[in-house]
Amino acid sequence: MLYRTVPKTGDRLSILGFGCMRLPSKNRSIDEERAIRQIRHAIDSGVNYFDTAPAYHFGKSEQILGKALLDGYREKVRIATKLPHWSVRERADMERILAKQLATLKTDHIDYYLLHSLGKESWEKMERLRVLEFLGQAKKAGKIRNAGFSFHGTLDAFRQIVDAYDWQFCQIQYNFLDEHNQAGTAGLRYAAGKNLAVMIMEPLRGGNLAGPVPEEIRKIWDEAPVKRSPAEWGLSWVWNHPEVTVVLSGMNNEAHIDENIRVAGSALPQSLTPDDIARIDQVKETYRRLMKVGCTGCGYCMPCPAGVDIPGCFALYNAHHLFPKDRAPRFQYIGHHGGLIGDVSYAGLCRQCGKCEKACPQHLPIPRLMKDVKADMEGMMGVVVPVLKGGLWCMNQAARVRSLFSGESPHG
Ligand code: SF4
Ligand code: SF4
Repeated sequence: MLYRTVPKTGDRLSILGFGCMRLPSKNRSIDEERAIRQIRHAIDSGVNYFDTAPAYHFGKSEQILGKALLDGYREKVRIATKLPHWSVRERADMERILAKQLATLKTDHIDYYLLHSLGKESWEKMERLRVLEFLGQAKKAGKIRNAGFSFHGTLDAFRQIVDAYDWQFCQIQYNFLDEHNQAGTAGLRYAAGKNLAVMIMEPLRGGNLAGPVPEEIRKIWDEAPVKRSPAEWGLSWVWNHPEVTVVLSGMNNEAHIDENIRVAGSALPQSLTPDDIARIDQVKETYRRLMKVGCTGCGYCMPCPAGVDIPGCFALYNAHHLFPKDRAPRFQYIGHHGGLIGDVSYAGLCRQCGKCEKACPQHLPIPRLMKDVKADMEGMMGVVVPVLKGGLWCMNQAARVRSLFSGESPHG
């Protein structure tokens, strides 16, 4: 594992940080045992930065990280967690939330404390509520060690926040498709120029740049003389920037964790060759052409009052366009969002209320996009869902009848 230094404090952090927003799941909740095993394995392999938040997994992420860090693991790592501005109405809320987080994480201090997901308006609100005074006092009391913020606004707002306080660090979204989105490369350089450590979130755009990539992209990667997986290309591009301190990866699969740890063992700044950079540029252009919606799957737009699974619909809509020959995304859409598996949550339920759009850090025009998703993905749904539901009903009835004759429980 390689480490980089926090400029203002000299703290040494693993260049790979464990993002606890996508922990492994089982039966629709976190697979706690597996998540704890993964976290401890990462620590044993040199990862020392763990990023969580009350918003992740509806509060369960902090709980599980707290448990995973028992048995002597707490002393080996830095915990990063966040103050959700949307839960703060007055100054006293900040104290209350931090006290709860310390209890949940079973610790007496947070190493890296962030104001969560700031943009211009949320920053102005928090400033009005005297958040800087709160941070100063929490530091003095030893409850937090370093103060920072995570960010999803415009570059101007980013510069304004960087300049407003003696932050130790900040956290921005950055990957080879987001060089000019939100803070972007200009923001990265600005923060690093002011001696802030810069933590990176969404280095693979919520996994969109890894995994089974489209045929056109795969060909470009395959032609490279150096063989790397798409995830390795994406992460290496981010680590190639000397201004980057930690790259967070929302890990939940053992093979991916091991791959990321391996790559983090050699990802020195400015180690990509001009040929590597040219290849990544080619991939960038191809992605821009193929991708329909720039959704990162962060979930800030949820819950939708009409029941639409917004990131879920976008993920399958993108997959449908990225892999035009593959019918699976359309079937999965019908199965998952049409109500065959779980609740109905398809784009056609959208009532155009606009609530989601205000919360989206990518500033996506979600209500308009919901109309596009509906038009593209739901053409046959009115026919297919009742037919499949009828089929499932028949299969259930058949199982029930069989059980009457065999004496077995249909659920056994
Ligand atoms: S605009 Fe549509 S998708 Fe967005 S919150 Fe409202 S109903 Fe849900
Ligand atoms: S639509 Fe926006 S807020 Fe919702 S998951 Fe996608 S990027 Fe996040």
